Amino acid sequence: MIFVHGGAGDLVPGEDPRPHVSGCLSAARAGAAVLSAGGSALDAVIAAVVALEDDPLFNAGTGSVLNLDGDVECDASVMTGELQAGAVGAVRGVKNPIRLARLVMEKTRHVLLVADGALRFAREQGVALVDPASMVTDRARSRWASPGTVGAVARDRRGHLAAATSTGGTSRKLPGRLGDTPLIGCGTYTHAGAGAASATGIGEAIIKSTLTRWAVDRLAGGQDPMETARAAVEQLPRAGGTGGIILVDAAGRPGFAFNTQRMSRAYIDPQGVENAGFD
Ligand code: ASP
Repeated sequence: MIFVHGGAGDLVPGEDPRPHVSGCLSAARAGAAVLSAGGSALDAVIAAVVALEDDPLFNAGTGSVLNLDGDVECDASVMTGELQAGAVGAVRGVKNPIRLARLVMEKTRHVLLVADGALRFAREQGVALVDPASMVTDRARSRWASPGTVGAVARDRRGHLAAATSTGGTSRKLPGRLGDTPLIGCGTYTHAGAGAASATGIGEAIIKSTLTRWAVDRLAGGQDPMETARAAVEQLPRAGGTGGIILVDAAGRPGFAFNTQRMSRAYIDPQGVENAGFD
């Protein structure tokens, strides 16, 4: 199964949320195609998140919200059930930050690279770098509200789990600000035998709640994924924020919850049955 989100947030007046749902469904299909060909959960979540990073509707990769200086600075992380993890923070001009996060996981002995060091590593690895200005869209320039991060969780045929999350962060953030997305246990967490989770919302509240680690720990105890997701987002208001989470447990059961007005999402089960929505 694969489950994708396109961010939790409030409805922007006059904005139709359905294109976000279609974008999530296309990304979920990209991930499901990997899984049905026998590919890994890791390859599936990367394929789904790359599709969302390349879709300018979403706040990740191209189309990311702008910081106070008017620049795009991206965060991303990926993790497998075997506790392999990689992340990048505050990177500029990286077309697909999630691919760079995967390379940090696979090619270094580190978990998180940020800013100029991450770019140097990207150059060494031959990752696609673009003019940072080309990732700034008119839509992002004209909007102040954050439309939300993107993420995916998957379970493959062999029962392996993975999660990936990518974002431009929150609108008008201070340059250099890292949110929850590049932090393992906050925006992304996976543990074999328990589950995988990807979060979205006010990053500072998600960090203080160590939200995805909290949720996956409960899945390890056998709790229902829907109930776990609901209990997880209930942590956020006392940490000063709102948001959403998607989950899959070790048996492949999905869960999601949000305490914003909407969270665009799409789910495809192992039989190919699709389910998508925003409210
Ligand atoms: N969680 C992201 C961050 O704080 C933003 C979002 O999900 O809307 O960077």
